[in-house]
Amino acid sequence: MRIHPLRLVPILALCAALSSFSLTYAQDSGDKPPTGMTIHVVQRGETLFRIAQRYGTTVEDLAQLNGIQNPAVLAVGQRLLVPSAPIAPGEASIGVPTSYTLQFGDTLFKLAVTFGTTEAAIAARNYITNPRQMYIGQRIALQEGAEDATGIKRGWIHRVARGETLYHIAARYSTSADLIRLVNRLRRADMLYSGQPLVIPADETGLPLTDLPLPLARFEMTPAEQGRTSALRIVTLQPTRLEVRFMNKPLLIFSDEAQVTHTALLGIDALAEPSLYPLHLIATTSDGEQRQFEWRVRVADGGYRSEAIALAANQLDLLNPAITQPEEQRVRQVVSAITPQRYFSGLMGLPCAAPVTSPFGTRRSYNNGALNTLHTGTDFAALPGAAVYAPAAGVVVLAETLAVRGNAVIIDHGWGIFTGYWHLESLNVRAGALVQAGEVIGTVGSSGRSTGPHLHWELFVQGVQVDPLQWTKQSFP
Ligand SMILES: [Zn+2]
Repeated sequence: MRIHPLRLVPILALCAALSSFSLTYAQDSGDKPPTGMTIHVVQRGETLFRIAQRYGTTVEDLAQLNGIQNPAVLAVGQRLLVPSAPIAPGEASIGVPTSYTLQFGDTLFKLAVTFGTTEAAIAARNYITNPRQMYIGQRIALQEGAEDATGIKRGWIHRVARGETLYHIAARYSTSADLIRLVNRLRRADMLYSGQPLVIPADETGLPLTDLPLPLARFEMTPAEQGRTSALRIVTLQPTRLEVRFMNKPLLIFSDEAQVTHTALLGIDALAEPSLYPLHLIATTSDGEQRQFEWRVRVADGGYRSEAIALAANQLDLLNPAITQPEEQRVRQVVSAITPQRYFSGLMGLPCAAPVTSPFGTRRSYNNGALNTLHTGTDFAALPGAAVYAPAAGVVVLAETLAVRGNAVIIDHGWGIFTGYWHLESLNVRAGALVQAGEVIGTVGSSGRSTGPHLHWELFVQGVQVDPLQWTKQSFP
């Protein structure tokens, strides 16, 4: 086997997860990752003949593929590598994805294994010359038709550590060294090298294949979009303390007691430039080992409109910093608190039963000025006196009359999530009150600097105003 010089160097650099390209490029010389194979777990009463029938193959092929000397001896629970059923001509593209969006834990190696192709083929098709330039949210084109999508979908990608043998690795994943050898097309004489990626297949109950650096086991992030909330969920294999920075801000990480499940919610500024941003992570395990990783994540355009607003003479106070600034600071201060207790769960309800007249995120220009302000909430055309409901449980942290926002309520839902209700007619709650979802907190009005009766609803994620309606359609972990 040809040894690429990079194979001898443990990769500790940032972007470790995306660095496998040069490591495995050499595999193209004959050692193609397995295509069209699945794992079959032998059930009680099954024979090699029946298994071969089920997968449209022969006893001889199965025996050879799995190194079985005596086809009559099968153990219940034994894992067999089986070729997936052949695809009839003309059906080749049915159910075969032609594109894919990159997630955390995706590397060229993982994609090649999952889609039953080679790293070189994916790189060539997508003009990838440097895998470090790949980013989360990138669309990857897959070869149509000819592509065999029945590669290995579940299991682990193990990066060989210095001194590890196939037997150590097999024991660690409760599988057999022979199976690992087969799946990875290793010959008996092959030496493992430090950093070598190995596929450890699992059956249908196993986890989806990912190529994450240890101690990360899962890393999921919902799409990042201007003015929307994105959720990050990270699972580590051992107790770990995580520090994550994204868009030049540290994220608030809430870890479970065992310190293996970690959650973060992030509000993406509606005026942030749609672009690629580095997500930087430092993982410190309980034994004091610290590792750093960096991925590039795409922040997508939120698709907001713009509008010009003409203010009447009695509303010009809205543009007067002497009036708006102190109130803005007061609201900022209230919504910047972090309550570790989490009151919200599931979907939020709507705060009132009325149509939306002005959505969140619209860029505004006042009296022919620049398009530099933003509609920071969602407006509902509710009738004066209509009930305003708490959309989720929380603690009222502000219930008072403000100059611009009028009669206002702010609810703290925990974890840095706040909702605000402006221009109310009456306030039905006091600061300090614990409210439940659906409880009436006030009534719709036109108090403060308002153009007419309506409810203006805001949602803050750790101080950043985002689209509140997203929370009525999507629940966050
Ligand atoms: Zn509004």
